Amino acid sequence: MASSKNTPVTVVGVPTDANSSYMAGAALAPSKIREALHRPSTNMCTENGVDLGVHPGWNDGGDLELDATSVGEPIDRGVSHLLETGHRIVALGGDHSITYPIVRATARKHPELTILHLDAHADLYDEFEGNRESHACPFARIMEDGLAHRVVQIGIRTMNPHQREQAERYGVEVHGVRRVPTIVELGLEPPLYLSLDMDVLDPSSAPGVSHPEPGGFSTREILSMIHDLPCSLVGADIVEYNPNRDQLGLTAMVAAKLLKEVLANMLGWP
Ligand code: MN
Ligand code: MN
Repeated sequence: MASSKNTPVTVVGVPTDANSSYMAGAALAPSKIREALHRPSTNMCTENGVDLGVHPGWNDGGDLELDATSVGEPIDRGVSHLLETGHRIVALGGDHSITYPIVRATARKHPELTILHLDAHADLYDEFEGNRESHACPFARIMEDGLAHRVVQIGIRTMNPHQREQAERYGVEVHGVRRVPTIVELGLEPPLYLSLDMDVLDPSSAPGVSHPEPGGFSTREILSMIHDLPCSLVGADIVEYNPNRDQLGLTAMVAAKLLKEVLANMLGWP
């Protein structure tokens, strides 16, 4: 029921850098992605013909109100409220730490969650630079709390021994960029959540990220993964876009395009 295409979708901005390491900027992303989504250089139609400009099944809920010190609880509360009032959400980050409180809220409504995590980084550190809420840690927290039945990572190309150990300990399925099983081969089952870190893309496709990692996927390859999902998502996030690193605004367009196709998945599934 809750995952059906009839459950309205709310796009919600989560503008925070509270748990970024190395470089800030992701907090500026939601407004820039919205601007790209509505840019008159293109239209609001998805590739399967859904016109998001008139489709009544989604709305933009604006940004969550966050204070600079504590972001986890307000995100959990804000997302819980939306889920309890009969919405599905697509969150626009913000740094990747937002996924932990979002998944915590989502898992209360959808136990046995499967998470598809697209990223150059496994984000499985027990702690990073002394911060257990770091954007390098959300999937360690998710696994510790037993919030997901299955986590499948694709695009990982920065594995180190510590995170490899963590992946084994928690049973996370880690795939890199070479010889990746197809989405169909992965046998993903509902309830399915998508966490999309923009740095899964190659920096030539999406240079506007804080941690560019060469050797990633093309925009087309990521779009194909979204198109091949076997069911309608119960929720999604698009994180780590950094407008400060996006001189031509190209990465904003890529993020907006991915947002459109994620919405097409959520609205168009029979
Ligand atoms: Mn990440
Ligand atoms: Mn990343």
